[in-house]
Amino acid sequence: MISIIGAGIAGLGIGLKLLKDGRKDVQIFESHQYPGGCAGYFYNQDISFDVGATTLSGSADFFWREHNIFFKKTHMPIGITIHQDQKKVYFFADRKKWIEELDLKFPGHDHHSFWNNLYYLSDKAWAINQQRSLNPPRNLFDLYSFINRDLLKCASLIKNLFTPLSSLIPQSYKSDQNLMNLLDEILMISAQVKSNDVNQLIGAMSLTYPHDVHYVQGGIGEIARKMSQEFIGRGGIIHYRNKIEKIIKDNHNFTLHTASKTFSSQKVINTAPLWNQSDFFPQDLVWKKQEKKFSFAWSAITAYAIIKTNRPVSELYHQIHISTPPAWIKSHSIFLSFSDPDDTLRSSSFKQTLTISTHTMASAIPPKSSPDYKKFKLEIEKYFKDLIQKFISNDISFEMLLVGTPSTWQKFTSRRNGLVGGIPHQFKNHIFNYPGQKTHIKNYYRLGDTTFPGQGIVGVLTGVKNFKF
Ligand SMILES: Cc1cc2nc3c(=O)[nH]c(=O)nc-3n(C[C@H](O)[C@H](O)[C@H](O)COP(=O)(O)OP(=O)(O)OC[C@H]3O[C@@H](n4cnc5c(N)ncnc54)[C@H](O)[C@@H]3O)c2cc1C
Repeated sequence: MISIIGAGIAGLGIGLKLLKDGRKDVQIFESHQYPGGCAGYFYNQDISFDVGATTLSGSADFFWREHNIFFKKTHMPIGITIHQDQKKVYFFADRKKWIEELDLKFPGHDHHSFWNNLYYLSDKAWAINQQRSLNPPRNLFDLYSFINRDLLKCASLIKNLFTPLSSLIPQSYKSDQNLMNLLDEILMISAQVKSNDVNQLIGAMSLTYPHDVHYVQGGIGEIARKMSQEFIGRGGIIHYRNKIEKIIKDNHNFTLHTASKTFSSQKVINTAPLWNQSDFFPQDLVWKKQEKKFSFAWSAITAYAIIKTNRPVSELYHQIHISTPPAWIKSHSIFLSFSDPDDTLRSSSFKQTLTISTHTMASAIPPKSSPDYKKFKLEIEKYFKDLIQKFISNDISFEMLLVGTPSTWQKFTSRRNGLVGGIPHQFKNHIFNYPGQKTHIKNYYRLGDTTFPGQGIVGVLTGVKNFKF
């Protein structure tokens, strides 16, 4: 029996892959009642809300095709609309239009050369990603096969992994604070770090991601719904509401403990994040060491709204830049994702929904047990409402708005301290340093957004594609 912990994108993805490879004995344990994890959903008034992820960017067509996962996605002509004070910047999908937009909104810079450099790097990285099964070498044998198979393809890019993005950014950009804020806040969406702490390759892939944003009909949760249906349809088992608390290994087997049951398994693939691993093996100091090594990570404040407007919002994805954020926001922006007003798969009543998210740290939020917690949530609610009316439209009113904090994330995804978004792509966390899928425990593997190649739906599925026992 192979046991997978977590029915997020990683767990469902590897479950489907194992069934496809002919394994018949695959079971998933999921602490929540729905699949999807950070790319999951919940229902309110029969409407499906995305809990975290809202956009699909980068191609995982290799996965959807191979596993018969069908959903309708629409490529967005404007990836994100960026709001900086009075300025609105449209990040067009079309590269030429985007450079023209930069020329118009930020005149006097050589945007063309800088962005063409970024396109060159990210196109090459995506091409390699599509072709190869890249895994970071962990030992001499890995290194030998890496050099044989992959190095030639990657050779010209390796230096970009070890060179800071800041050395590619033109000097004229660096003297324009608004332009640097624009780069930094786009990087915060997927690299989770700013331009002074990222390498050129990850920087290029992260800065160019808004060219390739898709809206999924039914919401991003439709992907997990479809993946879980397919997994169960092919004979896989998902034990919902079964949180694995502890894992014990004897010579040949693992025993997985929930609060009330035990399950035996020969192999375990755990998709809970790195920061959770010492909960499963409290005596194992290796996990504590790894947690310490990658201790810098973000949590999120999110909010879920049903909006009322005279005219539905037609640009679906927005990033609002904030020069002086309140203490509970740890970046300088918030991200807004509106549902497609015609998306009847998500809401048969044609109500338009909104998911709001921003970076925070658990330490910036009063604990749930504190008497200030409720007051604090009301403060967040008001802040978001005012911001949306100011930047998007003062015609918007709110039929409902629910706020999620790091405690909410911890409750619904079991991620310790509500840490989400993967391991930030700090300069020091390059491919050879990032945690891999094999672990120091025989037959115990890790997958998901805290293993290479990192976070996001497509990143996680690339990890699934690369997975090998
Ligand atoms: C606010 C936010 C916005 C995002 N936006 C985007 C976006 O627009 N596009 C994009 O591609 N990505 C986005 N991401 C990132 C993306 O959602 C994640 O990287 C990806 O979904 C992670 O998948 P995963 O399977 O690795 O982990 P998870 O989604 O965390 O899945 C792990 C699963 O394991 C379960 N679990 C954990 N511990 C246990 C246990 N002990 N026992 C049983 N079950 C357990 C959890 O309940 C969860 O379902 C966003 C993330 C956040 C938080």
